[in-house]
Amino acid sequence: MSFLCPDAVFTPRGLVEGAAVEVVGDRIGRVGPLPPGVDPAQVERLRGKVLLPGFVNAHSHAFQRALRGHVQHRAAEGQGRNDSFWTWREAMYGLADTLDPEAVERISTLAFQEMVAAGFTTVGEFHYLHHQPDGTPYDEPDELAHRVIAAAKTVGIRLVLLYVAYARAGFEVAANPRQRRFLHRHPDQVLAAVHRLQMQPGAFRVGLAPHSVRACPDHWLRAFAPFAASGGLIHAHVDEQQAEIAASLAEHGRRPLHVFEDAGLLTPRFSAVHLTHPDDAEIAALSRAGGSVVACPTTELDLGDGFLPAERLDGRVRLCIGTDSHASIDPFAELRAIEWHARASSGHRNVLRPLPGGDPRDGLAARLLSIGTVDGAGALDVDAGEITAGKLADLVAMDATRIEFASARLLPALVFNGSPAAVTDVWVGGRRVRGER
Ligand SMILES: [Zn+2]
Repeated sequence: MSFLCPDAVFTPRGLVEGAAVEVVGDRIGRVGPLPPGVDPAQVERLRGKVLLPGFVNAHSHAFQRALRGHVQHRAAEGQGRNDSFWTWREAMYGLADTLDPEAVERISTLAFQEMVAAGFTTVGEFHYLHHQPDGTPYDEPDELAHRVIAAAKTVGIRLVLLYVAYARAGFEVAANPRQRRFLHRHPDQVLAAVHRLQMQPGAFRVGLAPHSVRACPDHWLRAFAPFAASGGLIHAHVDEQQAEIAASLAEHGRRPLHVFEDAGLLTPRFSAVHLTHPDDAEIAALSRAGGSVVACPTTELDLGDGFLPAERLDGRVRLCIGTDSHASIDPFAELRAIEWHARASSGHRNVLRPLPGGDPRDGLAARLLSIGTVDGAGALDVDAGEITAGKLADLVAMDATRIEFASARLLPALVFNGSPAAVTDVWVGGRRVRGER
């Protein structure tokens, strides 16, 4: 048992000054005044710091961290206007072709280290590099998944492995040899891999991720319905690109979210990643199901995808964040971008619904923090994201004495002016993974 004593703690009741957070094993015990007579050796003073729940990164492709800085130029003189998500994807496939298992572990470790440094304590890794470059399975068929698991263990970040099902290049699209590393021949192979990984020792959760309606035909999606019905986590890319929606209409006569719905995959544990271009019926379907949307605004900006219509989703579906391609790894930037995009598209300020209960001046900041923490934890089914008794002790300390917070109202400034540079200490399950006592 130990006690963390920062200047202030962000709890579901808002920012509380002078409270101590008791850590018992990997969980949070009491949150309140430091009990009298506590052994000083058990007390860690966090002077000038604010304690927040750890951020949850609900959508990551760790290996894409290797593209950082390599895709920010025009492919060839005069070609810039043709650069798009699809040309970026070719560069990403080129990278994926070159990575051996050691490189996958190395780059995943780097990505997870950067996440922890930025204040993320959980990552949902949407893992689709499965095989050797020519498509042959490794002798250990889950070799690359084990490399990602090892990287998370090295860094100490909490991992939810979202094992990707990828069947084809697309509807009536010729096979793309650069996708061979991703492909399975039959949905049962995917279910078997998920089952094998679920049986592995170690504290990580495994979900199933049909990559998209582009990559999975209808009979694959239906094969995953029993997994969804039994409470399994399902994450999928949905409505990221207009071309994906057009292909879905051509193949199914329905938009992507309705294809998932008709296949029996929409449950409270379904997360639609991106949902950049939904129509109202899709939003209603996700809302009925109680599902989530994982917005990845900095990646969506980087790829020219568009941005989440947060003002249409707000109050209807759970919102959370992911850093996806890792163009940036910064929870504060993701959270601000959701609100700022909603402002830019609506012509209003302070658009997202404030979190009720605390000081109204902190309501919007508290809401954005919830999107980055407890709502992401909900989308990954992790019992964390709030500083309250009984939750996992996934915690982040920020230096409130920095110049960007000087003379500011603290909670809104942490969100609207915060950055990874202000993150000083990180604990996952009560274990310190960043900073020194
Ligand atoms: Zn993605």
